[in-house]
Amino acid sequence: MTTQAKPRGRDTLLRGSFYTLRRKCGKPSCRCMAGRLHATPALSYSLGGATRLLTLRPQDVPEVKAALKRYRQALSALDREALAGIRALRRRIAGQKADARKTRK
Ligand SMILES: [Zn+2]
Repeated sequence: MTTQAKPRGRDTLLRGSFYTLRRKCGKPSCRCMAGRLHATPALSYSLGGATRLLTLRPQDVPEVKAALKRYRQALSALDREALAGIRALRRRIAGQKADARKTRK
């Protein structure tokens, strides 16, 4: 019997978008002064109507991108489910109206 690994919760979800900051560091001799800017990965997201930026470590990038994708997929699945709910409600209401017309005859 194998020992159970640490129980895994639901995979992390992240809302927002991946963003690359491009900036100058300020050192006069640096390549960025010649226009080759430094690139810093970041997560851009909105919170309470304001856009926030969280700078990332390079090693965080794959996990962040995967979590953003999971969020988009979960969101579109939820949206499809909600639209199916509307279609079902519409059919039920239409069915009741049809029944009401039949009983009136
Ligand atoms: Zn620089």
